[in-house]
Amino acid sequence: MFIVMVASELAPVAKVGGLGDVVFGLGRELEIRGHSVEIILPKYDCMRYDQIWGLTLTYQDLWVPWFSGAIHCSVYFGFVHGRKCFFIEPHSGENFFNRCAYYGFPDEHMRFAFFTKAALEFLLKTGKRPDVIHTHDWQTGLLPVMLFEMYKFQGMETQRVCHTIHNFKHQGIAGANVLWATGLGRPDYYFSPDRLGDNFNRTAINFSKGAIVYSNFTTTVSPQHALEARYTDQGYGLGHALYVHQAKFGGVLNGLDYEMWNPELDPHIAERYTVDTVEKKYANKEALRDRMWVRKEFKPLIAYVGRLDQQKGVHLIKHAIFYALAHGAQFVLLGASPELGINNDFWGLKHQLNDNSDCHLEIGYDEELAHLIYAGADMVVVPSLFEPCGLTQMIALRYGTVPIVRAVGGLVDTVFDREHSDRPPEQRNGFVFHQADFPELESAMYRAIGLWYNFPDEFRKLVQNGMRFDYSWNRPGHDYLNIYEHIRHK
Ligand code: ADP
Repeated sequence: MFIVMVASELAPVAKVGGLGDVVFGLGRELEIRGHSVEIILPKYDCMRYDQIWGLTLTYQDLWVPWFSGAIHCSVYFGFVHGRKCFFIEPHSGENFFNRCAYYGFPDEHMRFAFFTKAALEFLLKTGKRPDVIHTHDWQTGLLPVMLFEMYKFQGMETQRVCHTIHNFKHQGIAGANVLWATGLGRPDYYFSPDRLGDNFNRTAINFSKGAIVYSNFTTTVSPQHALEARYTDQGYGLGHALYVHQAKFGGVLNGLDYEMWNPELDPHIAERYTVDTVEKKYANKEALRDRMWVRKEFKPLIAYVGRLDQQKGVHLIKHAIFYALAHGAQFVLLGASPELGINNDFWGLKHQLNDNSDCHLEIGYDEELAHLIYAGADMVVVPSLFEPCGLTQMIALRYGTVPIVRAVGGLVDTVFDREHSDRPPEQRNGFVFHQADFPELESAMYRAIGLWYNFPDEFRKLVQNGMRFDYSWNRPGHDYLNIYEHIRHK
């Protein structure tokens, strides 16, 4: 199959979050399976150009219709760790992608509506006719709308679209000017609630809703989150659209990059290990303690790695620190928040706990340290309020670090409670609690710490169970190919 991904992020050249990882990881997996994959991205000025090989101008004269005129674009080609990528650079007064940041501008909808249209125009003009176009999140949500309302009649009638929603909270809400700019026009038609009309704002269109209505299949990043989006407030108003289009909606669990996250080969950890040499993990615990000024005592080490965002259960993270310290465990945290209030809060906590040699908080982003924490800690806590998929727990399992998680989103699909899961004992890999409150978090932590102290052999079994799970791209790659095959023949 020939698959083209159109996305606003790609790890590691233009990564803000998990979206970039998915585009890269899935792209690689599909290529390994013998398919041809090309990725179309905006040419941001702030990209990691050192991660692009052989960047060359391949298409000089792409004119993209925009309002009543057209914008001239250049298209570059380059390899990103083996992935074939096209970067679209518009030459217009708006400077859509030359703003020293990926997101956060008042004309965000125009920027990405333009990018999406330019991507379609590029495919059209170059005669590229992929079997499937895979779009991601609201930024590219208008692609299926434009494909099936406009480009289909210009020679792209056999292309099919799979759209993935990574985060329902951001949907792309815009006014009629986007319709005029892209040439879709006809506001009366598109503002209809069964097309692009936003449910909460009758004078706005919703890019994500458009993607759900028009694409041939829509996925989100875990089966559990697919249910939550349909039946709970986690769909942020899109539940009804998902209900109407339920026959073409499903959840596919994200994969983890098993080359980047591999305790057998990881260059960032003190001692490498496998499921059979898991006792070597202890050298990493000692190295982590050295690195984070935590004393060497016979105590379990609990960690939190992740964004410090309300979504992640900030009040529960703080509570976990104090509970761990009061119950014979040590705690390390690595995280940062773009919100000043939360950041200040954790700086205050860091100062408060400065003299405690069982604890260290590192406020910031540090990829290498994250690797050492996953390798050195005994457990991680992930008390998220919502979590579409979550990579932290999957990385922890790969490194033999027992996850203590709240049962929500992708955490439900990946972590199975040692005592209460209905899975066979050898498939239980962590501790799970349900309500987002202190007693439930405490009870899970109590069980985890208790097992570490009282039944070390049982704890070790849990560690090894976790390491044996396969959360690579192998299975999700297969699932996405099934979806592509399914829509290709419709
Ligand atoms: P989200 O995409 O909501 O941020 P995920 O759990 O899906 O959460 O992915 C988070 C990824 O980012 C993990 O690989 C985690 O290790 C990494 N990460 C998050 N915060 C930091 C940080 N401060 N330093 C290093 N890595 C981080």
